[in-house]
Amino acid sequence: MLRCMANNRTLTMIKPDAIAQGNVGPIIKKITNSGFKIVALKLTQLSPERAAEFYAVHKGKKFYEELVTFMISGPVIAAVLEKKNAVDDFRALIGTTVDAAQGTIRNLYASSVTKNAIHGSDSNENAVIESEFYFNKDEIIDY
Ligand code: ATP
Ligand code: MG
Repeated sequence: MLRCMANNRTLTMIKPDAIAQGNVGPIIKKITNSGFKIVALKLTQLSPERAAEFYAVHKGKKFYEELVTFMISGPVIAAVLEKKNAVDDFRALIGTTVDAAQGTIRNLYASSVTKNAIHGSDSNENAVIESEFYFNKDEIIDY
């Protein structure tokens, strides 16, 4: 189990659409300006198997195939972010998939319900699971 995940870390992915459209810089700027500290970061290409594993909870839903196809269409940037109340504060920063609030990352950069620019863990438990999906312990920095 990763150290210190109680309520202060979340896992994000900048999705292939945001990378292809050149939105990585503005998105990272918004994240760090909002008080999140990057403690791990990598650019990586998901295989079909790894994408299916990450989104296993959605298997069988009508958008699942479209989601996996999209998530393997180009690289993603995965990062572990640290901040008090990280999971909830980050979900607020990115906005919801449908009808993202004004000024949120999805409001600014999503191009469709599936191509919604960014992911944020939805619970502390999933933040730990998703962080371990992308990073070894020695890849997460303790400042
Ligand atoms: P939120 O729960 O705030 O809507 P999320 O990222 O947690 O956002 P999930 O429900 O976990 O969304 O779905 C995972 C991903 O699947 C979404 O981020 C989006 O890319 C895609 N997705 C979700 N619902 C749909 C849908 N109805 N149609 C197409 N794609 C969808
Ligand atoms: Mg969700």
